[in-house]
Amino acid sequence: MATGSINVSVENIFPLIKKFLYSDHEIFLRELISNATDATLKLKHLTAIGEASVTYGDPIIEVKIDKENKTLHIIDQGVGMTAEEVEKYINEVAFSGAEEFLEKYKDSAKDAGIIGHFGLGFYSAFMVADKVEIITKSYKDEPAAHWSCDGSPKYTLEQHDKSERGTEIILHINEEEKEFLEDAKINELLVKYNKFMPIPIKFGTKTETLPKPEDAKEEDPAPTKEVDHIINNPNPAWTKQPADLEDKDYKEFYRELYPMQFEEPLFNIHLNVDYPFNLTGILYFPRLGQDMNLQKDRIQLYQNQVFVTDNVEGIVPEFLTMLRGVIDSPDIPLNVSRSYLQADGNVKKISRYITKKVADKLSAMFKNNREDFEQKWNDIKIVIEYGMLSEDKFFEKADKFALYPTVDNNYYTFEELIGKVKANQTDKDNKTVILYASNKDEQHAYISAAKDKGYEVLLLDSPIVSHLIQKLETTKENITFTRVDADHVDNLIKKDEEKISKLSDEEKEKLKTDLEKVIPAEKYTVQLEAMDSNAAPFMITQPEFMRRMKEMQQTGGGGMFGMGNMPEM
Ligand code: ADP
Ligand code: MG
Repeated sequence: MATGSINVSVENIFPLIKKFLYSDHEIFLRELISNATDATLKLKHLTAIGEASVTYGDPIIEVKIDKENKTLHIIDQGVGMTAEEVEKYINEVAFSGAEEFLEKYKDSAKDAGIIGHFGLGFYSAFMVADKVEIITKSYKDEPAAHWSCDGSPKYTLEQHDKSERGTEIILHINEEEKEFLEDAKINELLVKYNKFMPIPIKFGTKTETLPKPEDAKEEDPAPTKEVDHIINNPNPAWTKQPADLEDKDYKEFYRELYPMQFEEPLFNIHLNVDYPFNLTGILYFPRLGQDMNLQKDRIQLYQNQVFVTDNVEGIVPEFLTMLRGVIDSPDIPLNVSRSYLQADGNVKKISRYITKKVADKLSAMFKNNREDFEQKWNDIKIVIEYGMLSEDKFFEKADKFALYPTVDNNYYTFEELIGKVKANQTDKDNKTVILYASNKDEQHAYISAAKDKGYEVLLLDSPIVSHLIQKLETTKENITFTRVDADHVDNLIKKDEEKISKLSDEEKEKLKTDLEKVIPAEKYTVQLEAMDSNAAPFMITQPEFMRRMKEMQQTGGGGMFGMGNMPEM
């Protein structure tokens, strides 16, 4: 028997990386800009702890297209690499310099925001380029290095005369991938993946209009100036402290996230936790109405300000995928399947945390300003009702603030509702019957019949209400929901009538004379037959003409009935 070890060489790995590492070729740019960002953040950190003494200035990252030479350039002013470091970090595939850096500066660098950690990102360049060059000069006092590789495992490494600190990556774009030499394409990618990265990214220049000088004539054109076109906002709202932000800042950021959304969000929730996992973000409640199918403008997932995906399925609970906003967490494993994600301990904790934050926010809104909460209800109910259906933890909390509107625009919590209907809305099994309508116009006749009988009628019109009702019927004791136009509503109402008409005619008469003994018969009438159209067993009414007389006396009017001989009211 022979034993041996399989030799994994770069030769074997290269084609694999090209084909399978990333299904999406376009992410090469995200990876290279992440490396440039890391290099800049590392330098910042080393300067801060006194290990590097350089003029740091305001470093930027530049992306340039050279159409003539068919190259794409990514240039940074970060730490750079010595020739030795190129050997170590670049030539050893799957060795992450980012991870090594974090390991070495464990305590001080954990908040430095370093992005990389797989040690594979750089090689994604070969998905779009036939040849890749690195020209790099370390912040350490050493000559610059020039590395070049055409995608085979052979590379060249020599000295270079680059004098400024930092790294330039040059991609010789493959003929099949030539779209990555187009301004519009690169701009689109930068906006998609790098819009909120922490180091300013320059792509070309733009013309800025300056204010006219004092002595300018009316017809003189305003002066202009070419300035760097910076594509990103390095300090997005979610990276700031909630205390430093006002309502208008949140709204502004919403527009930045969704430039095509003209409607303002209803409110937002700022997420900010660093233990036992790291997560920041802002979630917005849009005006949802009945719409459950919001395909675009979804929640965006970032890692250290790098866009990862806008498919957060498996990371935030499903009912919250209807919201908008961003979440940023370095603790969500990427490049893994969704089913794996759902089983991941951190992801579970994150999902639970988000659910709790949303429930707490809604609860606070309900308590602090009930009126405002009622006004928003119809726009947010889908999320809440869906959440109550799908997450028991959320149900427990939402049960206290979920509202049940009536056809008359009263909004009751479940507890309030039961208090209202308990006494007179029971069926033969003594269950409390909750009547509801789903359409005020279509069920108009039934609604008014039920109201005549003194019943409260809810207006439940969201698309998932039938499921919610089922859930409530199984969770709450002794209640049942009945649609106002269902057959058995009539039965139910008849039942009530039968109960009342249990009185024999003789008993009815006695009740009437008993009542008339205690109220003056000339002013009021006792009506037993009122029970037919009303849930009350009898009605004491005042003759219409007497009611009008009283009104006239109060307003001091004389009038059509004459005043003289009316009894005093
Ligand atoms: P990771 O970023 O996960 O560490 P990469 O394959 O993306 O892995 O990069 C490998 C290493 O190469 C980095 O960790 C870093 O040490 C080095 N590197 C890549 N790009 C640059 C750059 N622009 N400036 C300095 N070092 C770089
Ligand atoms: Mg990287």
